[in-house]
Amino acid sequence: MKLGRGLCRIHVSAQRLLQGARNTGAERCGLLFGKLTNAAFQVSVALELDNRALQSDCFRMDPAEMAGHARRQRASGLDLLGAWHTHPKEDAGLSAHDRGGAPDGWLSLIVGSGGELRAFEHGATGDARELELDVDQAPRPQ
Ligand SMILES: [Zn+2]
Repeated sequence: MKLGRGLCRIHVSAQRLLQGARNTGAERCGLLFGKLTNAAFQVSVALELDNRALQSDCFRMDPAEMAGHARRQRASGLDLLGAWHTHPKEDAGLSAHDRGGAPDGWLSLIVGSGGELRAFEHGATGDARELELDVDQAPRPQ
């Protein structure tokens, strides 16, 4: 694993979707697509999926639905980088559940109850490092 703080650049359209999902009763969640370069996660698309979790304080997405979205995004050249979810009643830090449920190299974007957004890259053993977050204001290429 690289040392130091990595970077996550998120397109403004994806950031708006995430900010718009905050402050509802249950956690909301979805997938993040884009490119991983040596220097950064470049998130260009965020999609919302149904939260299938039975409790309101965690999230679970349907694997078949995830795979279908990943296939369609790959056809337009974008890779599945990770997932986003909201914490309606807590800050945007990783919960124990969040740390345990993510594979190595997975990106987590979390929207906290106050609307703050934080990015984490998960390691192999339940560890994670926080990434510097940068919003890309450029128009998305058609
Ligand atoms: Zn969480």
